[in-house]
Amino acid sequence: MSDYKNFEAEILVESPGRINLIGEHLDYNGGQVLPAAINLKVRLHFRKNGSSKCNCYSKNYDDHFAFDLNQIKISEKEWHNYFLGVVHFIDQAHPNKIGGFDCIVESELPIGSGVSSSAALECGIAKGLDQLFSIGLTDDEIITMSRDAEHHFVGTKCGIMDQFAVVRGKKGNLIRLDCNDQSYKYVPADFNSYAIVLLNTNVSHNLATSEYNLRRQECESGLKSIQAKYPGQKVLAQVPEEIVNEIGPGLASKTFDRIRYVVQENARTIAASEALAKGDLMTFGQNLFESHSGLSQLYEVSCPELDFLVDLAKSFEGVIGSRMMGGGFGGCTINLVQHDQVDAFIAAASQAYSEKFNIQLSPFTVAIGDGVKLVS
Ligand code: ADP
Ligand code: MG
Repeated sequence: MSDYKNFEAEILVESPGRINLIGEHLDYNGGQVLPAAINLKVRLHFRKNGSSKCNCYSKNYDDHFAFDLNQIKISEKEWHNYFLGVVHFIDQAHPNKIGGFDCIVESELPIGSGVSSSAALECGIAKGLDQLFSIGLTDDEIITMSRDAEHHFVGTKCGIMDQFAVVRGKKGNLIRLDCNDQSYKYVPADFNSYAIVLLNTNVSHNLATSEYNLRRQECESGLKSIQAKYPGQKVLAQVPEEIVNEIGPGLASKTFDRIRYVVQENARTIAASEALAKGDLMTFGQNLFESHSGLSQLYEVSCPELDFLVDLAKSFEGVIGSRMMGGGFGGCTINLVQHDQVDAFIAAASQAYSEKFNIQLSPFTVAIGDGVKLVS
């Protein structure tokens, strides 16, 4: 398998990463989000091998592993579990369709940096197996099985947004997704003379998983307290801010901050997408800056590196909006930058960042692309 250059694949699937313009930490709170698939992707080459064995090779990790279809159990190595989980859930819903296969994965996405290399991988596996074995999975099945693999095999209790964007992404469009009922519509991403620039901090603080799970608990407990007086309130992101302000002061102060952030971010996401529809990019960008303030001060999922880059972006004339993107504690900032200022912005940010933190910044400009697809 490691001689991947001579590997003769039957099919090739490309599966993109995703960005989220605004609506952070809202997917598990039933809120509105505004993601899109990007032009950077993972490529997955598949072939059947006629046995009950599955061989998987990650070019990025130069690592190979094999498993038997009759013996699927969670592995100690995280990346194995994306394969094991997706195979498990497909097999549960469509027994005896999957046979042995070989798969090579090569990704141009930064891994673990908030552009969802994980959803790209798991949705790419699901799409590839669907095509290779003519299973007939619907897009909804690919989304939910990939999410279930991440929950139950990898152990990340992610929302639905990442898989949704990876599967339903459409070139030139954002997806306005309601994570409560999963209704969605495409919103043309008319950024005119602005480019989408991601600045990868190249840090990932190890608080990310524990704090992520804690935020979920804090939000659940905040909603329960609200429901004690207002049982009709089923979805945190949809609770009117007056109710949050009435109940909040009686809660632990951190819980109040968390739920305030959620309802404010939901309102900001709606305002931002309305501004975009009207072509009001300044208001759209302003909402991104405010989203970052909320994430940093109320939701407390930022870190010094992310705050530094957003502050720098605020003072840079060609940038109209900037915020941390993804779970937080590292990963990327997303910036809307005037096209003719992109190089200057990247140069200034890279220099200031390495002077301050002694870490190399990884900047990249992304375009909005299509969702996971069979290429050949
Ligand atoms: P993100 O989704 O933001 O990139 P995650 O921590 O959710 O970050 O997912 C990263 C994990 O996904 C990696 O630790 C690895 O287990 C898996 N992964 C992603 N891309 C690859 C790849 N090309 N090869 C092997 N594993 C990968
Ligand atoms: Mg992920």
